[in-house]
Amino acid sequence: MGLKDFFKNRQLKKAAKQQIEMPSIELKSIPSDETLCTLWTKCQSCNQLLYTSELKKELSVCKHCDHHSRLTAMERIEQLVDYGTFIEIDYDVLPTDPLTFSDLKPYKDRLQHAEKSSSAKEAIVTGIGSIDNQPVAIGSMEFQYIGGSMGSVVGEKITRLIEKAIKKRLPLILISSSGGARMHEGILSLMQMAKTSSALKELHDAGLLYISLLTEPTFGGVTASFAMLGDILVAEPKARIGFAGRRVIEETIRQKLPKDFQTAEYLLLNGQIDMVVHRKELKKVFSDLVRLHTQNDKKFFFNDELVLNVKDTPLLAKV
Ligand SMILES: [Zn+2]
Repeated sequence: MGLKDFFKNRQLKKAAKQQIEMPSIELKSIPSDETLCTLWTKCQSCNQLLYTSELKKELSVCKHCDHHSRLTAMERIEQLVDYGTFIEIDYDVLPTDPLTFSDLKPYKDRLQHAEKSSSAKEAIVTGIGSIDNQPVAIGSMEFQYIGGSMGSVVGEKITRLIEKAIKKRLPLILISSSGGARMHEGILSLMQMAKTSSALKELHDAGLLYISLLTEPTFGGVTASFAMLGDILVAEPKARIGFAGRRVIEETIRQKLPKDFQTAEYLLLNGQIDMVVHRKELKKVFSDLVRLHTQNDKKFFFNDELVLNVKDTPLLAKV
């Protein structure tokens, strides 16, 4: 039963009862979907109705079944970064349609629709912020924008963020939530895999920390490039992480896969990621990791912009 049906039934029952007691009362209009959805949210896992405001306070984790709901790119950043410290960069890098691609509808129309439905200009938000007063370069993917797919703009913004991190000597955090490369941009989207990977090599050579957070879902070209290249790979509980989808693999190898295949816990058990962290613990874990790896750095602030000037390279990154 959908939210609207739930409230409709409840109002009808209430009105029927009131009509017996007070026959003259009129049935109130049913609240719109939009109003209901702002007040209540249905858990995607256990179907319990939750007050949206309460759910937000719990970082969008269901209090009944601990399901971690999907977040927008900005919600992620707000949860991790100290209040008021985030400065977005490269917000003016916008997508084009280099191949004039069209499938069921033109790619240009898809871009317009994605912008309207997600209120984002592309599938990633990048910038500089601080976690417990420690400056970091941070990028968060927006799944609602064409499935968080990696096109030229996503690759470019990640690469620019990495270059910024190298220039300012900042640790890098990338939060992935993506279906993979954006096929509407053909080879140009696939090239972003090599581009972001080589930029990360520069970051590594500069002795800087890169933490990759894998969230539900991380697949395809994103998994096959920057998402799995972190010095430390962190995932949220039950997040699905893989390259090809479960059904494709089953059809190819003609075998049934384990029930928990491609989940964060399965990958941890098989040594493919470093830790599975509950959303409520994420900020503290990131803060501790950054502090551990940048304890020898010296911090400077200039014109309200967080700048790190380093004389000593982080000890652990050197090893
Ligand atoms: Zn639930």
